Amino acid sequence: MHAMIFWGFALLFFATLIVAIQADFGLQIFRGPLYLFIKVTANLFGLLALLGILMALWRRYVIRPRRLDNTKDDVIILALILVILVTGFIVQGLRMAIEPDPWATYAFMGYVMAPWLASLFSEATLLSLHKIIWWIHPILAFTLIAYFPYSKLSHILLAPANQALRHHGPPGVPEPIDFEDESIETYGKSKLREFSWKTLFNTDACVKCGRCQDHCPAYLSGKHLNPKQVIQDLRVHMEEVGKAYENYRKEHPARAVEEGAGLQEAAAAAQGSAGEESLPSEEELGLPELIGQVISENDIWDCTTCRSCEEQCPIFVEHVDKTVEMRRNLVLMESCFPPEAQLAFRNMENNGNPWGIGWSSRTDYLQGLGVPTLAENPEAEILYYPGCSGAFDGRNQKVSAAIVKLLRQAQVNFAILGNEEKCCGDSARRLGNEYLFHSLATENIKVLNGYGVKKILTQCPHCFNCLKHEYPQFGGDFEVLHHTEYLNDLLSSGRLQLNHGIGGADGRRITYHDSCYLGRYNTIYQAPRQLLQGVGLNHLEMAHTKEKSFCCGAGGGRMWLEEHQGERINVMRADEAIALGVDRVGTACPFCLTMISDGGAAREAGEQVKVLDIAEILAEKIS
Ligand code: SF4
Ligand code: SF4
Repeated sequence: MHAMIFWGFALLFFATLIVAIQADFGLQIFRGPLYLFIKVTANLFGLLALLGILMALWRRYVIRPRRLDNTKDDVIILALILVILVTGFIVQGLRMAIEPDPWATYAFMGYVMAPWLASLFSEATLLSLHKIIWWIHPILAFTLIAYFPYSKLSHILLAPANQALRHHGPPGVPEPIDFEDESIETYGKSKLREFSWKTLFNTDACVKCGRCQDHCPAYLSGKHLNPKQVIQDLRVHMEEVGKAYENYRKEHPARAVEEGAGLQEAAAAAQGSAGEESLPSEEELGLPELIGQVISENDIWDCTTCRSCEEQCPIFVEHVDKTVEMRRNLVLMESCFPPEAQLAFRNMENNGNPWGIGWSSRTDYLQGLGVPTLAENPEAEILYYPGCSGAFDGRNQKVSAAIVKLLRQAQVNFAILGNEEKCCGDSARRLGNEYLFHSLATENIKVLNGYGVKKILTQCPHCFNCLKHEYPQFGGDFEVLHHTEYLNDLLSSGRLQLNHGIGGADGRRITYHDSCYLGRYNTIYQAPRQLLQGVGLNHLEMAHTKEKSFCCGAGGGRMWLEEHQGERINVMRADEAIALGVDRVGTACPFCLTMISDGGAAREAGEQVKVLDIAEILAEKIS
């Protein structure tokens, strides 16, 4: 539909341009075969554009998908384009009805209309109509051009610009805060002016297609958060703030900052920095508070940072960074966060893990397995970093044991940090507690660098993402592998041997749940699936899979928070697996394992659908 409208108009624009050049400069371009070719092509593309517009009207006003809100702007644009196209064809038909055209068949739209128009009107009426409609057509075309920057049509320019300006590195890595810098007066973002122009440009570029809304687990489970609405609310607020400062500057020219200064310069002056003439704050101008009034706190805390919205957004709007920045402000400046987060923060601070279990018992789960620490085995080829879940959560300790069993079978020389390991800090960072994250990350990096660690194996995608993409911000540069990647390499290279070899037919039906931080954040989709194929399970895909996977509900630190509204996200995901009629659900993340097991238990399907980590499934296949 979009392609038909866009390319239809592009071709018509091109053909009109040639007509204009020919008429204004006396060039004879429209001659011979080129003339006939353009005539046919322009008619064909015009017809495609017309069909595209009819499809758009049908979709918006008959099908009416919930994610589309039909505004006045939509009606004006669609009606204008429709009338421009139709009048173009009518003018052509009227001309052919008045005077015979030897090449009429090439302009097939006019050719079809001409006899019909000739049968309806006298020649004099045809002449008058031709004159009137000939004028209506360009007037409307120029009206559309004039309306362009004020309408959503501006997305034709803004959307590619936003795509070009998109972040190219690993997605969703928050900017670090320099806590040593005493000139920083505020942490996180609570005012529009504190966001970068690029972040704000995102809101202008949004085409309101609602794909983010349609794929947001928080929205779909009935939470307050709607990512499309958040972006739109920010845009409306931006216009409001911009207008308020513009008006103020007009009314108080003497107090305004130097001519031409933008919103952010005005904002800097508003803070009274460097002795500049100060402007009033947003509050003094009677503007609403960004957090609380424009964006509700529920919106900020409901997000699981799953990045489904960003992945589905056709123009690469980035939602998660805005949420994390507002969380930072709430946590670091206002001490305002859900009460459950307080407990997780305190536990991470005191014991280096969110469960709050004594730090010195971190390796208790490995007792009897004889896994050496790096201090005991400094020559280890890889450091195994089980993370807090793998060390303290009873269910995930079994996954750690499975990984140890597999590494031993493949004769990998590995070691752990033992009690020197601390939480990677991912949950603290996503919950906005950058200070806590900073201290956990720097302590871990100090230990890792102290041992000269080069290669790390993780079993948690949150540890994996954090160590791989975020620790380099603090001087921790390591090769980090997730266990699904590493085990897949061991299996395909023959280092890891299964009892019955690779493949075969296990007969049991399994589905794999993609973790957001492994899949969307790190595009690891194939390795877990290859492992399932390797053990010969009958693998079925859920409706939401790979890039479109549905979050388990625990990302973004939500593992430690309650869901107070709507359905439980983990139960919705478990329902999807149960509906597939599988015996097992494979996971590759400790949070997903816990959440989907709990979801299945809530549906009393725990016995019927077993949730297992891929490592456990693999470990069953070795003696
Ligand atoms: S990151 Fe996930 S939960 Fe957050 S707004 Fe986007 S889709 Fe919704
Ligand atoms: S998917 Fe992107 S463009 Fe579409 S409404 Fe959401 S943010 Fe806007």
